[in-house]
Amino acid sequence: MLSQNRPAEDLTETAMEHKIAAQPALANGKANGTNGTNGTASSIAPLDASKLTIQRADPTAREVPDEVAACSGNETICTDHMITVAWNASTGWATPELRPYGPLSLMPTASVLHYATECFEGLKAYRGHDGALRLFRPDLNARRMLMSTLRISLPAFDPAELEKLILALMAVDGPKWLPRSRPGSYLYLRPAVIGTQPQLGVQAPKAALLFITASFMPRLDVPAGGMRLHTNPEDMVRAWVGGFGYAKVGANYGPSLLATNEARQRGFGQILWLYGPEGFCTEAGASNFFVVWRSREGQLQLVTAPLDDKLILDGVTRRSVVQLAKERLADEVEVVERKYTIDEVVEASKEGRLVEAFAAGTAFFICPVSQIRHRDHDVHIPMVKGESGLYTAKIKSFISDIMYGNVQHPWGVVVDEQ
Ligand SMILES: *Cc1c(COP(=O)(O)O)cnc(C)c1O
Repeated sequence: MLSQNRPAEDLTETAMEHKIAAQPALANGKANGTNGTNGTASSIAPLDASKLTIQRADPTAREVPDEVAACSGNETICTDHMITVAWNASTGWATPELRPYGPLSLMPTASVLHYATECFEGLKAYRGHDGALRLFRPDLNARRMLMSTLRISLPAFDPAELEKLILALMAVDGPKWLPRSRPGSYLYLRPAVIGTQPQLGVQAPKAALLFITASFMPRLDVPAGGMRLHTNPEDMVRAWVGGFGYAKVGANYGPSLLATNEARQRGFGQILWLYGPEGFCTEAGASNFFVVWRSREGQLQLVTAPLDDKLILDGVTRRSVVQLAKERLADEVEVVERKYTIDEVVEASKEGRLVEAFAAGTAFFICPVSQIRHRDHDVHIPMVKGESGLYTAKIKSFISDIMYGNVQHPWGVVVDEQ
């Protein structure tokens, strides 16, 4: 909502609000876009999933590989179809198309290739043990993609329409690519928006493309012996206050690979990104990070970095962990969102108060962390319950029960399969 009282210097917020207000469908909370806030008809078409056209691939042309084979090569294996929607500044969003998966065509001068006008989402479709196909809280991914899109001056859309498009792709490709014979499996969905205007010069693109693919992705939540983290090099941060670490924009990830590769060569899985001279713990790779420790007063706490300084990504998994722990573990564990430093973690470990740690995100799901190397310290984290901590395992099963339909919950959105 537009805030009249915002100070003039709050430019990022104001710019994003202007962009939303300029799109009648969003300002009104409606999807038809025929009526602006001032009552005039708009010729700029909003994103409209109901217009989706379908051009089917030959269903016999490709066989569905088994999960292990699909994830063993150097190329992501996508399903038969993808969805694309073009946009340009003068006419708005074009007709969404569901069509055979294949290459996109871009000019070498396209904005995205030079100025990183790209953002993306990642969510999974889960084949339930009850046979149903579900998405997990896709409304949150759609809203976050709108936020990321606006952050890099790409066009606004109604997130409800994006959610419908994601469901439409799964309705078509779900039955073949995530068959009922594979309960407990998933596909990875990757919506993205790119600036396509073929003109050099640093400016907001006047043409864009939204696309959605569905693919295989390896299981990353059970690395042998737990996930091992290495803190970032002293001269590097992932994000900074005033930056865009809170948005899922491609520009956040390419530059992180240097440190990640270095850590991999030393036998670590991901970087634990610290921030500032204090060494605040922020995120583990592209996942949110949690520790369970006992405070000096003896209180068991589940601790994670806060959202308010906009350093970290507001993960759907993170939110779900926080909410479920508050709802279901309140008698045992206090949930704390606050800034905390690597020194506090090292100290808790030395004093025998560190109980567990895990990474949380769609790709890594809930992944137990067994070790953190920080400069010359090695923090070893107990894994009492086999390959995981006790609360890590509890929280993981709360969420996976919702994803795979062991319990019925409003966060599990069932796909109406064709
Ligand atoms: C995507 C992502 C996460 C996890 O978000 P989910 O919505 O839980 O998948 C966390 N941190 C970063 C930096 C990410 O890119």
